[in-house]
Amino acid sequence: MNFYGHDKQIELFLRTIKSNRLHHAYIFSGLKGIGKKYFATNIAKYLSCEEKVYFSKCVCRSCKMIDEGMHPDIYQYNRESLLADNIRELILNISMTASVGTYKIVIIDDADMLSATNQVVAANILLKTLEEPTDSTIFFLITDRYDEILATIRSRAVNIMFKPLESHDVKDAVKSLRPDIPFIDTAVSLSYGSIGKALDILDSNIINVNQLLIDKEFVKFVEYIRSVPDTKTLFMVVSNIYSYVLVLYKETGYYELSELSSYMLEILKRLNYNVNLDLIKSNFASKIVEVLSEKI
Ligand SMILES: [Zn+2]
Repeated sequence: MNFYGHDKQIELFLRTIKSNRLHHAYIFSGLKGIGKKYFATNIAKYLSCEEKVYFSKCVCRSCKMIDEGMHPDIYQYNRESLLADNIRELILNISMTASVGTYKIVIIDDADMLSATNQVVAANILLKTLEEPTDSTIFFLITDRYDEILATIRSRAVNIMFKPLESHDVKDAVKSLRPDIPFIDTAVSLSYGSIGKALDILDSNIINVNQLLIDKEFVKFVEYIRSVPDTKTLFMVVSNIYSYVLVLYKETGYYELSELSSYMLEILKRLNYNVNLDLIKSNFASKIVEVLSEKI
């Protein structure tokens, strides 16, 4: 896959690297699914690329190793692997010289997780390293919740904000990743500029749900809702139908539809917490069917 969007940041990093002014820690903040981690990987590639290829496909030994996740000087962590023991091992590793290139690169996805109470140890170890940086290690902390990053970490890193992508970039990216799937335009329009979100929408099949309601296929609709596998998908389904209900309310002025939309907002809020998914699914389905079968 090529890189989509974020031209300003691409230029900024090229200038910074060429003038030797790279900082030792960056926070990449912005919506999920817009390419922040992929951006960091591309910087890592450039710093160790044998052909000095910047943000383009390269098949040199180093770039290949990064693509395969096998490069000895690139360390990647996420929600699951962000554990104190792993961070301790990392600190030990980055105290030694790089095995292949000049730099060691650490990419931490979901870096806001370091604020969680069970992450205090990992966060403290990391903080110490950020306080006394080595010349050859660069940290990229990735987050869609900048405000939740520990203030002590924020003050030691440069924040680079990433905006949502333009629709045409999301569309091009999705087309290259899922060439045979229909409904790409609808998914792009519901994606808020996030490639990840557009892919989630396409993969979870929620585009057809509005159509079930429009066609008054309530039995199929309830069956579909019952089959929704997790809270994340249900969240997308409810947000998707929410927009439809608002449009219906504007068209008809029926009070029940406005009530239904508030009810759905409440569901969206509750889905952020630990909830009984089956219960929410069945309440939601019956409420929708009850109101819509009378009003549309
Ligand atoms: Zn290369």
